[in-house]
Formats: sequence, structure tokens, C-alpha cells
Amino acid sequence: RQSCSAGPGLVTATDMVNYWQKVFETNGIPEAQESSQYIVSFVLGAKTFQSLDSKSLHTPLTVLQQEQIQQLSHKRLQRMPVQYVLGEWDFQDLTLKMRPPVFIPRPETEDLVSLVVEEEFQKCGNSALCFPVPVPHPVILEVGCGSGAIALSLLRKLPQSRVIAMDKEEAAVDLTRENAHRYKNTYYSFFCSAKQLLLWGPIDVIVSNPPYIFHEDMASLDAEILCYEDLDALDGGDDGMKVIKTILALASSLLKVSGNVFLEVDPRHPSMVEHWLQVHPDLLLTLRAIHKDFCGKPRFLHIQKQSS
Ligand code: GLN
Repeated sequence: RQSCSAGPGLVTATDMVNYWQKVFETNGIPEAQESSQYIVSFVLGAKTFQSLDSKSLHTPLTVLQQEQIQQLSHKRLQRMPVQYVLGEWDFQDLTLKMRPPVFIPRPETEDLVSLVVEEEFQKCGNSALCFPVPVPHPVILEVGCGSGAIALSLLRKLPQSRVIAMDKEEAAVDLTRENAHRYKNTYYSFFCSAKQLLLWGPIDVIVSNPPYIFHEDMASLDAEILCYEDLDALDGGDDGMKVIKTILALASSLLKVSGNVFLEVDPRHPSMVEHWLQVHPDLLLTLRAIHKDFCGKPRFLHIQKQSS
């Protein structure tokens, strides 16, 4: 690849970013500058444009590099999300393969992972006085694993856990499996359909970023989402609660006493879920905490299973 000669006109990375930024702007592509920077730095083998040194920015690109940038930029011109254009994206400290239509993990969901990890370490007790130091080893079920971002991050942070990652879409389970193979610490993970869940017995943690968008809000989503992502991963029905209710029922039957559910939800959902649990005491679930996302919106629910 490196042996390809530079094209006519000695085009540099900076030229390419400027050129494609303009093309994107002219064509109404959102985040024109970020998009062109991501594409050019990706082709140059860098994570971010800001990490390219001045030599890389000003060395003429090879013809092959120019062609690759052009090919990827044309995909972006079709409003393809940059995560699918590049075919990979970072989530916490993992780089995960991305491909349509599997849901692209959003940055706020990284905090959902941290909440689970914190709670599991806390449950394990303040370990300073114990030897060997106790490590959490929960059985965790992720409902709707998509690309595997949550499940694989949890495995990384809680390497003694067993994670069952589940999704109704085979394309998602396949991508989770591929992403799991990228990281070798995954041999405690299992991917299965809901039918197989009962084989697993009591579960310590259920975690999910379910589809929670109110159906009437779906139409106003960006073209990037509407044209490329699996809308079933976003559409939570009339009140955004369709899958949330299913997960609560699942939690009620599968969770150990004192087991936890961690959910990402719409800011309107905390009070709706609280009400739902009050009018369904038979579920034996209690809302323990509501956590905000980095924009200050109530976004994550911590629910716990009570004893009967
Ligand atoms: N936060 C996502 C979005 O607005 C929605 C995620 C979801 O429905 N789980 O695109």
C-alpha cells in the first residue's frame, strides 16, 4: 500500500479534509468537518484527526489513500453514519466492529456500564481488609446486545463475571460474537435466545439499553438513524415502555433476591416506571435510584429485586 505513488497535484490530508468538508456542507451533511476528519484520519491509520502530526498532515497522500477517502466519503454523502462508514467505533476502551443495521452505541451508554461496575464492586464489600481481595463474579444478562458494547465492556471490567448477551436480531448476536472474538477475555460469555435463558437459573444483574423512544418521536430522528439503523432497536412503542415492561417482567422471574436491573431510559420514564412498579407489586421490584446522564437528564434506572 505504501508503495503507491502520490497522485497528481500532491494532495495532502489537510487538502482532503477541507475538500470533503466543503462537499458535505454543500450537500447538507451534518457534522461536515468531523465527518471528513474521521474519514481522513481513519485512512491514515489514526483514531482522531487531532492526533495526526504535522508531517502526516502535509505529506502527499498515495493514490490508494485518496481513492479510499473518496469511497468512504461517498458513503457519508448518502447520510450513512460515520460509525458504519468506518466500520468500527470506540466504546469505553474497546474498538468494536459496526455495520448496518445493528444499533450504534451512544456515548451516554458508557455511564450505564460504569453504574453496573460500581454497584458490583460495592456489593463485594470494601475489600481493603480481606485477602484474597474479593472480586465480583456476577451472572449478568444483557437484553438487546446490539454490537455487544455493554456486554463486552462489562466483561472487560468484571473479568470474573459471566455475561449472557441476548438480542432478538441474529445480525446483532452475530456482530456481538465477532466483537467478542476481537477480545480474548471473553470465554465466560454466552450468547443465546430468550428460550435458552431458563437454563441459566438465577441472575445477579440485568442490564439493558432497550428501545425507549416514544413512537411519535421516531419520525423526527435524523436521516442517518432512519435510513440505516434497525428502528426496532429504538422504537419503544406509544409510551416508549414496551420493551422496558418486558424486561421488568423478565427481571421479576429471573433475578436473585437483591439482584439489580440497570436500564437506560427516556427522561420521562423514571416516574412512569416508578408508577408501574407501584401498581404491580407482584413484580417484587423496587426503584432504588435514578442517575443523570452527562447532559444532566435523568437517564438511568437502578431497580432491585425484593424478597417475597
Ligand atoms: N439514545 C438513543 C437515541 O436517541 C436511543 C437509544 C434507545 O432507544 N435505546 O438515538
